[in-house]
Amino acid sequence: MYDIEKVREDFPILKRVVNGKPLAYLDNAATSQKPRKVLDALTGYYEQHNANVKRGVHRLSEEATAAYEEAREKVARFLGAPDARGLIFTRGTTESINLVAYAWGRKLLREGDEVVLTETEHHSNLVPWQLAAQVTGAKLRFIPIREDGTLDMDEAERLIGPRTKLVGCVHASNVLATVNQVERLAEMAHEAGALMLVDGAQSAPHLPVDVGRLGCDFFAASGHKMLGPTGVGVLWGRPEVLEEMDPFLGGGEMIREVHLDHSTWNDIPYKFEAGTMNVAQAVGLGAASDYLEELGMQNVREHEKRIGEYAYHRLSEVEDITIYGPEENRTGVVSFTLPDIHPHDLAQLLDEDGIAIRSGHHCCQPLMRRLGVPATARASFYLYNTEEEVDRLVEAVEKAREFFGAFAS
Ligand code: PLP
Repeated sequence: MYDIEKVREDFPILKRVVNGKPLAYLDNAATSQKPRKVLDALTGYYEQHNANVKRGVHRLSEEATAAYEEAREKVARFLGAPDARGLIFTRGTTESINLVAYAWGRKLLREGDEVVLTETEHHSNLVPWQLAAQVTGAKLRFIPIREDGTLDMDEAERLIGPRTKLVGCVHASNVLATVNQVERLAEMAHEAGALMLVDGAQSAPHLPVDVGRLGCDFFAASGHKMLGPTGVGVLWGRPEVLEEMDPFLGGGEMIREVHLDHSTWNDIPYKFEAGTMNVAQAVGLGAASDYLEELGMQNVREHEKRIGEYAYHRLSEVEDITIYGPEENRTGVVSFTLPDIHPHDLAQLLDEDGIAIRSGHHCCQPLMRRLGVPATARASFYLYNTEEEVDRLVEAVEKAREFFGAFAS
């Protein structure tokens, strides 16, 4: 039994009052709030163990190194990774994908090769590939979406072929709430001899993820969206593929031997972790993985599905509203627009009622163009949100409609 009141007790910030109203935090796709367990892990690390990792033989350095490596094991287990050697700490999804685009893409892509993405990608799974394509002469191709916001898998079959070297796809869309068939795309990629990269920024926090079952070669996620601190995220890569890649950043810790004119590289994952890493944040992310595992990702998914469906259903009743994305198999993201109200104005008005939603292009400008809107309003739910918060959202949206309707008429 999912005890929502008990879950909410774990998040101190949820007690905040904003503009005289209890905070309804519905901007979880942007970043999540942090449970006490994660906050304690951060302060505990700094109060008891802080030292630079790997370089020292003194007690604190050994403890800090053990805490950092334990965090790696925890996050690897959380993602179903068979081998923690494939788990690289980064600053987040953006850096993880850049790492692949530089260290794999720039080394191995050639003129005439193709990278197949989708038209729903976040800029962080698009711009790094544009940069890699500029340097290597590779081409980018895009799987379109159907009217309901799901990927056109027939087009995917057509696009993925002998020239494809990598398929990259967002697992769960941060705008449309679609859960994409990345397992099927991974099969298609592998049949064509290509690799599969999954942007898991919006799936790792919300769905049970098993990189082995997904069949992908790379999986990227951000700690701050899954109850962890900012400044840390992960790239999981199949060890054989990581071994083949060049380093991303050069410097301390990523080397085996350094000479004045050349260097050799450390084993994976250290080859990709140059300099002093975000150690405390990694420890915090380990604690976040523990917290999510204790709650059970299936329970988290079911709770969010219930809240997401309730929000979809209640918002659909608002006159003239457009909600984007499929009706079924959604995450807890609801993007919508109303005629005569700019999403920014709506978000500002909702803030007066203590309701935090996001408005804008959500770092998906090509998708906005495809949808024919400059921006949407987006409410995004997580494991601590309640039906009562959905009701407050709908009531405030109705109020905004009346308010702006008065100007429009
Ligand atoms: N991919 C998706 C689908 C996202 O929603 C986001 C963040 O909103 C990112 C990538 C980028 O994540 P970060 O800014 O943590 O690197």
